[in-house]
Amino acid sequence: MSINLDFDRQHIWHPYTSMLTPLPVYPIVRADGCELELEDGRKLIDGTASWWSAVHGYNHPRLNQAISNQLSQMAHVMFGGITHQPAVALCQQLLKMVPANLSKVFLADSGSIAVEVALKMALQYWLGQQKPEKQRILALRKAYHGDTFAAMSVCDPVDGMHSLFQGQLARQLFAPAPLSRFDGPFLHQDAQALRQLFAEHHQQLAAFIVEPVLQGAGGMRFYHPEYLRLARQLCDQYEVLLIADEIATGFGRTGALFACNHAGVSPDILCLGKALSGGYLTLAATLCSDKIASGISSAEVPALMHGPTYMANALACAVACASVRLIQQGHWQQQVSAIEAQLREELAPCQTFAGVKEVRVLGAIGVVEMQHPLNVAAVQKRCVDLGVWVRPFGNLLYLMPPFVINPAELSRLTTALCQLSQQPDWSDAAVLPGA
Ligand code: PMP
Repeated sequence: MSINLDFDRQHIWHPYTSMLTPLPVYPIVRADGCELELEDGRKLIDGTASWWSAVHGYNHPRLNQAISNQLSQMAHVMFGGITHQPAVALCQQLLKMVPANLSKVFLADSGSIAVEVALKMALQYWLGQQKPEKQRILALRKAYHGDTFAAMSVCDPVDGMHSLFQGQLARQLFAPAPLSRFDGPFLHQDAQALRQLFAEHHQQLAAFIVEPVLQGAGGMRFYHPEYLRLARQLCDQYEVLLIADEIATGFGRTGALFACNHAGVSPDILCLGKALSGGYLTLAATLCSDKIASGISSAEVPALMHGPTYMANALACAVACASVRLIQQGHWQQQVSAIEAQLREELAPCQTFAGVKEVRVLGAIGVVEMQHPLNVAAVQKRCVDLGVWVRPFGNLLYLMPPFVINPAELSRLTTALCQLSQQPDWSDAAVLPGA
């Protein structure tokens, strides 16, 4: 039986879409390796890793095996008053990989919730230190940390959803988005702006939250690792906690196991998600240091006040454990650097096209920033016709394929991006029927 697209269109929300004029959706029936298979049998090379998550590719035998082994034991049990091997094994693996100061793990059910938990940890920590005035969070402009309310409050106040939910979001403090490029000089103005904010507001500041090195959904901006070193130094100097949101960047995507490693910086609180479960099931984690955990636990309310129903879902933990073990084997390093070299070479010609503002590459991420906003439906239709799966946003065409992609598959993606970016303006491109 075919997938009922009419029903879908009339009744099912998709991410960030209107129910009256929804963007077209494509029926996928199978995914294997780096290919998504459409219902009509066409295959698309995946340039998205399903929003950073499917780093090992789809239908991976080791990940499949981990889920089916676990399924024969139990799918899920509550985590209140109970523990299980998949959770313990996963946390043991994680603690071997993350900076050594991090020793406690909260298993959350999505990236946004991991951010909520991180913010809660920071606020509860300062309550425990008898500093209830430390309640505000410093964040970066152009940041993106998720769609729940506390997470939204630390997203970019202009491009984020602040105006829509005015009055409902906690009023946080924002530093300018770093201008120093990843591989350029570290600019004095970035340092000065940050120093000034810390000096003026540290008494109210509970934490500084950053997406290390790569601001993702806020514009795919790569910034200088020195900025993180300065952030760490100012956090220490002024008693502010540093939260690293590595939900997108964690597990090798930027060419380092964690993006913080580019700077040799350890955060007080670390958020992981997406690639954590290899793109199989929704799972995220918030890790913190002994200092934070004991600070929270010695407060008047000594418990970390969070505990979702599906916390530490056993299937998700089992597949995450297998995914993290694959990462630990280390093949990602060579895979990511090969992808990086190929992206640099094959996307370089885009730089000469009139409609292209900039091409940039870091690790297994390739970005072609256009001069004009893109018509998502029209671009996606063209991509599907070209046999690739790419999901643009704003004026950005970008690739973040599974790490296991082979050179021929990656060339299909870069060729498509070159073709798309040759068209100077996609803003009012017509969407042809059949999308
Ligand atoms: N933080 C960052 C940096 C992200 O990229 C995302 C997801 N795009 C989130 C948080 C939210 O994660 P989730 O979509 O799993 O809630």
